[in-house]
Amino acid sequence: MHYDVIIIGGGPGGTTAAKELAAGGKKVAIIEDKHWGGTCLNCGCIPTKMLLGATAPLGLLKAQERLRTMKGSIDIDYKALQTRVGRFLKGSSQTLAKSLAAAGITLYEGRGVCAGKGQAIVRSESGEEMLTTDNIILSCGSSSASFPGLAPDGDAVLDSTGVLNLPEVPESLIIVGAGAIGLELGDFFGMMGSKITIVEAAPHIAPTEDADIAKEMDRVQSKAGRTCITGVMAKSLVTKDGQAELTLGDGRVLTASKALVAVGRTPNTAGLDCEKAGCTLKRRGFVDVNDHLEAAEGVYAIGDVNGLTLLAHAADHQGAYVARRILGHEKGVYVPGPVPSCIYGSTEIMRVGQTAKGLLAAGKSVSVSQVPLTLNPIAQAAGASGGFVKVVWAGDAIAGIAAIGHGVSHLVTVAQLLMVGGYTPERLHEVMIGHPTLDEIVPAAIRAPRVAVTE
Ligand SMILES: Cc1cc2nc3c(=O)[nH]c(=O)nc-3n(C[C@H](O)[C@H](O)[C@H](O)COP(=O)(O)OP(=O)(O)OC[C@H]3O[C@@H](n4cnc5c(N)ncnc54)[C@H](O)[C@@H]3O)c2cc1C
Repeated sequence: MHYDVIIIGGGPGGTTAAKELAAGGKKVAIIEDKHWGGTCLNCGCIPTKMLLGATAPLGLLKAQERLRTMKGSIDIDYKALQTRVGRFLKGSSQTLAKSLAAAGITLYEGRGVCAGKGQAIVRSESGEEMLTTDNIILSCGSSSASFPGLAPDGDAVLDSTGVLNLPEVPESLIIVGAGAIGLELGDFFGMMGSKITIVEAAPHIAPTEDADIAKEMDRVQSKAGRTCITGVMAKSLVTKDGQAELTLGDGRVLTASKALVAVGRTPNTAGLDCEKAGCTLKRRGFVDVNDHLEAAEGVYAIGDVNGLTLLAHAADHQGAYVARRILGHEKGVYVPGPVPSCIYGSTEIMRVGQTAKGLLAAGKSVSVSQVPLTLNPIAQAAGASGGFVKVVWAGDAIAGIAAIGHGVSHLVTVAQLLMVGGYTPERLHEVMIGHPTLDEIVPAAIRAPRVAVTE
């Protein structure tokens, strides 16, 4: 069978590209070997947020309790929550597959393997089928990474998917890696009553963020009774006598009922044979792409598998770009613009664009304007006791906007639009922002006095 485009991987990147290409009149096939919707829908963005949707409001209630405006307790039924999440994911995956088929896309369930230029094989239980095509899009995503000595064993040492499927809330949980995945799952299980210990090799938790944001997150974690150990390598993590046993580089040994290894992601390129289609793999096995997201002539790589930005909306954005390019509607290079990212939970971090530390490392002169969240009436209504919004300036241009506090993930789009629109204090009068809203804190931070930062 010949197609205009064959897409390997049915996550956010692949499915967006498929829909746009089919809408543009192309004959499209998409191959998926596990579950439609990929990591994001089945074991990533969506299940984590469904779980946090139940526990994050507890943070709000606890804040009211601290203000003595509320008392009593609410119990979360973990099993019922797991059942609800499982049903939602299964239904959403099926609905997605149906919508792809309804758009005229041919769906193959099996493993896609590159067989040569313009050739892909689908391997499934029913055998092998050779397909030919004018274009291949690799959108195979990524899986949990591990280091020697830190490999999940499916027993007490688990990856994020294993932790998401725990039949019971563990009494205690060690988390190795304090990025988004580690912090979000730590928040969920912490709110469910697990004793949480977070270990991070970098000098601070949330290592991709500025130190002031991380310091506030650290304060929140310790206030919630969670232990954060930073600046120490995890040396080995094993199941011993049914428990997770972690040995740190400084010799300390920690034990817990379960452990989560959340030390990054590795691309799903093993066995893909994409070299046969002319692709080159770069460091850690990610597919190398040029400015047009081309990995070889007639081959594109989008989303996690190219290692550029490991976020679902980046995969989606890249999928739409490649579709426009194949349809002949896009001639320019791929421009992601400022990337939004969030860490969700009872206290959240959001950022659009660059950090101050990133700009300083690039030799730029940087200033920051900042306001505390407590200035905002909606944050006050939610009982906010900390957190802030900061705007990072490179000269007179906004290079990044970041925030930490309850509910700040809701600020990500207003921050993005004000930043992309170039709404510096001189132009903010052009936009009327609703009152009272949490959003108002972003223009307030843009208008706040700027202070030069050097570290
Ligand atoms: C716990 C967790 C939480 C996350 N939370 C967020 C979040 O809040 N926001 C966010 O933006 N991102 C989040 N992410 C990251 C997000 O899930 C990924 O960036 C996104 O799913 C990448 O999309 P993709 O299309 O590149 O690949 P994936 O979603 O990984 O999809 C790739 C698909 O390809 C399939 N596949 C792989 N190899 C083959 C093959 N050879 N043949 C056929 N099929 C194949 C896989 O089975 C998979 O279904 C999270 C990730 C995790 C693990």
